[in-house]
Amino acid sequence: MADPSVAQQQIQLLRTVYTAQLAEKLDRLRAGRHALVLPPWNPERAIEYHRQAHNLAGSGATFGYSELSLAARCLEQTLMPLCEQTAPPTTPQLEAIDRALEALGATVRALRTADAPGVQALAPPTRPVLRTQTLVLVDDDPQANESLAIQLGYFGYSVHTVSDLDALPGVVHDVSPTAIVLSLAPPESGQAEVLAATLRGPGLTAMPIVFLAQRTDLEARLQAVRAGGSAFVPKPVDVSDLVMLLDTLTSVAPPEPYRVLIVDDSVLVARTHALILRAAGMQASVVNDPVDLLPALAEQQPDLVLMDMYLPGCEGHELAAMIRQQAAFHGMPIVFLSAETDREIQLAAMGQGGDDFLTKPVPPAHLVAAVKSRVERARAIRGQLNRDSLTGLLTHAATTEQLVREQARVQRYGSWLSVAMIDIDHFKRVNDTYGHATGDRVLKSLARLLRQQLRASDVVGRYGGEEFVVLLPDTDSEQAHGVLERVRERFTHVLHQAGEASFTVTFSAGVASLPPFDDCNGVLEAADAALYGAKQGGRNRVLLAKNMTASVLAASAYVRQGAPSIDAFGPAMRHEDGSPIRGLVVDDDGDLRAVLASWLAGWGWAVELAASGAEALACIEQSPPDVVLLDALMPGLGGLEVLKEIRARALDMAVIMVTAFSSEQLAIGALRHGADDYVRKPLEPAALRAVLERTLSHLVLRREHAALQRRLSEELARSAEVQTHLLRLTTG
Ligand code: GH3
Ligand code: MG
Ligand code: MG
Repeated sequence: MADPSVAQQQIQLLRTVYTAQLAEKLDRLRAGRHALVLPPWNPERAIEYHRQAHNLAGSGATFGYSELSLAARCLEQTLMPLCEQTAPPTTPQLEAIDRALEALGATVRALRTADAPGVQALAPPTRPVLRTQTLVLVDDDPQANESLAIQLGYFGYSVHTVSDLDALPGVVHDVSPTAIVLSLAPPESGQAEVLAATLRGPGLTAMPIVFLAQRTDLEARLQAVRAGGSAFVPKPVDVSDLVMLLDTLTSVAPPEPYRVLIVDDSVLVARTHALILRAAGMQASVVNDPVDLLPALAEQQPDLVLMDMYLPGCEGHELAAMIRQQAAFHGMPIVFLSAETDREIQLAAMGQGGDDFLTKPVPPAHLVAAVKSRVERARAIRGQLNRDSLTGLLTHAATTEQLVREQARVQRYGSWLSVAMIDIDHFKRVNDTYGHATGDRVLKSLARLLRQQLRASDVVGRYGGEEFVVLLPDTDSEQAHGVLERVRERFTHVLHQAGEASFTVTFSAGVASLPPFDDCNGVLEAADAALYGAKQGGRNRVLLAKNMTASVLAASAYVRQGAPSIDAFGPAMRHEDGSPIRGLVVDDDGDLRAVLASWLAGWGWAVELAASGAEALACIEQSPPDVVLLDALMPGLGGLEVLKEIRARALDMAVIMVTAFSSEQLAIGALRHGADDYVRKPLEPAALRAVLERTLSHLVLRREHAALQRRLSEELARSAEVQTHLLRLTTG
């Protein structure tokens, strides 16, 4: 709602409501006057009464009723001394109150017959209008032009290609682009003027023109300047650099609307101020009861709080002090709004955390200007603190703050929030191959792509080195998956440039949503675990946390956090002599492999992984494990075949079969062929642990037994030898 005339009508409506309520307000004041004389005397009553009069003075002024406001202020002043009085009001005091009440009654009566005064004109919206960015690309090589157009398309530009300079003015006229990108052989000296005349013809004057040039010598640059170029980019072009340049030339990104929280116990006054601010393109919300302030702050993270000085139960400056006690709101401007004209009181309020003081009635234009300038400044300061300097995205801390806010919204309104954790694949290789500076450019291009592809209300943060977090409000996990898939797909096509070489990069992402998760940590961990799963599953993919089993989540959280998770996983398991137990995990499913490996590692095992039966046998050959966790169903050499092979070679190791749910037959078959035990999917750490312990104790017994057997046969052999020897002696 950013139409001033609509807002004007709504304010008019609010005032009609307000006017209709005046008689009732007057009745309440009269009732208050009677309560004043009821014994025993309590100054609290006078304080409350004073507050009512004060509010009427303020609200009256806000709606343009200056007479009413004046009369109410008169009453307010007669009540002032009573607020600190230990004795009940004296007769002259009561008479003064009655006179003030009478005057007030007269104004209210007069108002109901008179025409309502007009509300001052509202300020026009300040928010710039967002429009799609259109580019015209000019290149005499149509193929090169087309491929650059496709690249720029990934970044959300609508691109028109032209291969002939003569056709340019017509196209520009038709599509009115935000910029022109010219890739032409540098104009011969003297032709620059001709080109300039074409480019700067009618209708083209203000448009930025970017030259892409093979030659980068001074002459070429000079010609570009003479032809009216705004920028000069040497070929081969790094698309993300070009996009960055176009962004600054065309200054696209629309600022987020300013968020203002209005705290005022008068519903009508608060709503009027909200309307005025909304008409100016801001987001304004209202809190009428101080009790709701803290939750509203946490949820909305306003840029500014507009606070009434006198509120039921507590005063504005107390609330301000309370807000300031929270580190997150140290820098947030608090502007007091009150009918208070006493400069001393105003100053005192500002001493306690207020930034400004506006006296009611505030003309709409003044209110908007005061709020705007405060928010601008606060945002500029906060922007520097909250933005990552490389990508311009929110920092880790700022992203987390936003998550807290979005989570509060979800809980309050029962909406959805999806969280995506993104990590660039094999980014270390990019750095190692092309250098850190190129790596930085890749980070920037992903940041730009995310910003461009997501909605303005989505939050994009740089969570760490090459990790990003995206918050998608009002989006369930399926939708979020779709959105991220689209971005992922696009990113795989973006060509990054390092000198003459160009390359592509991919990312993996994990997505989790509130609900079913209900707190920030839970959803972040789940997204992180899904990201981990996406990496294990082969990278360049988006994985939904809800598609992972509970045990996968638990395990990957365990791995990622790297914390000794004795509680969740039980104490370490070791050989008698303290050496680690050696495990081999054989599974064609990367997720499952990772999970099992992480559990075993958590129990102090030394773990090897194999993705197929053949790989498993090779692994066993090289370094025989103590225990093999063997997936029963694998393409190629299946688990049963591997088991038979192990037993055929009489290898000294335990084999645990991992079978799908409800495949009893398979499990029994495995046991017949010499499996030590079996576990069924979905796997749970506790169940696996129990099986492992059982298997290990059998293994130990079996080995002891085997060792005994060995010793026995050795001894038997030796005694046979001795006997033979003795026999020879006696017979010899
Ligand atoms: P994976 O697919 O498993 O995520 O592999 P990876 O190589 O991307 O992951 P790893 O965590 O091993 O390496 C991340 C690399 O990101 C290491 C670090 O040098 C690099 N990096 C972190 N921050 C920056 C940065 O600001 N600029 C550049 N150029 N590199 C960074
Ligand atoms: Mg990483
Ligand atoms: Mg990475």
